[in-house]
Amino acid sequence: MIIVKLGGSLITDKSKAFVIRGGVLRRLSGEIKRGAGKDLIIIHGGGSFGHPIANKYMLQRGFQSKEQLRGVYLTRLYMDILNRKVLEALTNKSVPAISIQSSANIICDNGRINEFNIEIVDGFIKLGLVPVMYGDVVLDKSRGFCILSGDQIVSHLAMEFDVDRVILATDVDGVYTKDPKKFEEAKFIKEISKDNTQILDKLEISENDVTGGLKGKIIELLKLAEKGTESIIINGLVKGRLEKAILGERVLGTKVF
Ligand code: ADP
Repeated sequence: MIIVKLGGSLITDKSKAFVIRGGVLRRLSGEIKRGAGKDLIIIHGGGSFGHPIANKYMLQRGFQSKEQLRGVYLTRLYMDILNRKVLEALTNKSVPAISIQSSANIICDNGRINEFNIEIVDGFIKLGLVPVMYGDVVLDKSRGFCILSGDQIVSHLAMEFDVDRVILATDVDGVYTKDPKKFEEAKFIKEISKDNTQILDKLEISENDVTGGLKGKIIELLKLAEKGTESIIINGLVKGRLEKAILGERVLGTKVF
């Protein structure tokens, strides 16, 4: 089985609220169709459909006031709209994609997944379908609600299932010493191993992300490395890279193992 995460920064324009990168999404859907022969789960992030509202209503703090509830239902609404676009793109390329709504299937506790009936995911896979899940606002036993990142869903499912490869597609080639979009001198990091995590202390990660951004991603992937599952962070903006990664070919990216 392969788990593919389509990052929010890849499928949306993070600089503008509610803007989808339609062309990118269509191309990636084709790559998924051509690449996939094995069982597959797709997760997508929220990008500019999730983060602006979640930030505005400070949803990452959990329930503090009734004013935040508007942020909760708007986040749900816009994540549904984005999810529908992803589903349309995938099914237009005949990927047998079926959406599973996170907030109806997952309850968190202190920001971590606490209850999640993965039989639903498993059942659809066994039928030959491709479950699609996404980061969202979900119920939280201690905080009322929380923001659940797509990255946490990826690591949870990769722990539960027998997964060959986890592929995180984003809008940069992988992990650098600094944000490559802001610093020309940023150096590419080819590998992050669970036995050599000192490299993480040197990382400068600039972000304003309610789900923990890149650092959150690496932490989730290192948990998988402990289990023996390898992951790779790749640039989905480069044509063909996701397809090759799904097929198991060598591609440029940061390997976490
Ligand atoms: P996604 O939304 O695709 O899941 P994120 O936005 O959480 O991804 O993380 C990817 C972004 O992190 C990139 O767009 C990049 O600009 C930014 N970033 C910040 N610091 C770094 C770094 N040290 N190396 C690579 N990317 C970084």
